[in-house]
Amino acid sequence: MAEKIKCLIIGSGPAGYTAAIYAARADMKPVMYTGMQMGGQLTTTTEVDNFPGYPKGTDGTAMMEDLKSQAERFGTDVRFGMATKVEFSGKEGGVHKVIVDESTEIEAQTVIISTGATAKYLGIESEQRLIGGGVSACATCDGFFYKGQDVVVVGAGDTAAEEATYLANICSKVTMLVRKDYMRASKAMQHRVSKTENITVLYNTEIDEVLGENVVEGVRAVNNQTGEKTEIPVTGVFIAIGHKPNSDLFKGVLDMDDTGYLITKGKSTKTNLPGVFAAGDIQDKEYRQAVTAAGTGCMAALDAERYIGALE
Ligand SMILES: Cc1cc2nc3c(=O)[nH]c(=O)nc-3n(C[C@H](O)[C@H](O)[C@H](O)COP(=O)(O)OP(=O)(O)OC[C@H]3O[C@@H](n4cnc5c(N)ncnc54)[C@H](O)[C@@H]3O)c2cc1C
Repeated sequence: MAEKIKCLIIGSGPAGYTAAIYAARADMKPVMYTGMQMGGQLTTTTEVDNFPGYPKGTDGTAMMEDLKSQAERFGTDVRFGMATKVEFSGKEGGVHKVIVDESTEIEAQTVIISTGATAKYLGIESEQRLIGGGVSACATCDGFFYKGQDVVVVGAGDTAAEEATYLANICSKVTMLVRKDYMRASKAMQHRVSKTENITVLYNTEIDEVLGENVVEGVRAVNNQTGEKTEIPVTGVFIAIGHKPNSDLFKGVLDMDDTGYLITKGKSTKTNLPGVFAAGDIQDKEYRQAVTAAGTGCMAALDAERYIGALE
């Protein structure tokens, strides 16, 4: 027997919990499935300095615990589980079926998708070990901690170029490591990089190892044409090789762009199917911040509430 509910929230990052707070306060009795990463991406970082309301900054995991408590305070039913299959109705007022962990069947009037995105890393041991100790996938989030210091940016696309120019304003020196002999970034972004004095671009260059025991002390770079290795002393390593939106479940069901980000209509969180909404990084490849995710989470709950209101 399927459990029948008004509002199902898939994902427990800032978007999901904010949607839950609003939906619960609107008496929609939301049920949330957290996915494998309860609390979302912020649980992988220790310092969050830019979320409003924490004048001294906070720890990512602690902040997400606060959001969870706030959502539960208003009656959100937070459950550990993965949405594994969806059968969304294409009709106004239709019932959306979601299967959790291959077995639990939920029938929801509205579904808020907040499954986020996953930053891509190189995957080498030293990089993985030093995530949070100088290795980061987000210059906007962590750049400030490297003020006046030397850093490396890995990547060759628009995001890498943007992160490098952002960091160049804060850091003393930025070295970009580009695997091929050219950059993929747009001509405009390449131009911004080349006219920024404190950015150096090294082509045909990859990271062989991130140096340091508990914190980053440098990188050993390798020229993939000559094999020559060079040590670059830096305190921060920014990996900017892209993100993967967690949208595989919705392929062929919901409209998404060619990189897998869900498409929402205009300024709303509405997807192409009535009663199905998307919030946070899953529908935002532009800003990807906790506060913007939370903002769209609020919007999704309001959109869902209005959708149900209009049916009644
Ligand atoms: C290392 C790091 C540091 C960062 N630091 C900052 C910072 O200082 N400030 C800032 O503003 N931003 C920061 N960010 C960015 C910020 O974390 C994201 O923008 C934000 O978490 C996005 O929130 P979200 O709710 O969209 O999704 P996410 O946080 O990505 O959460 C997605 C959720 O969906 C769940 N999920 C996925 N698939 C399923 C499924 N099939 N079923 C159920 N659940 C599912 C996951 O378990 C997870 O709970 C940082 C990111 C990283 C990686």
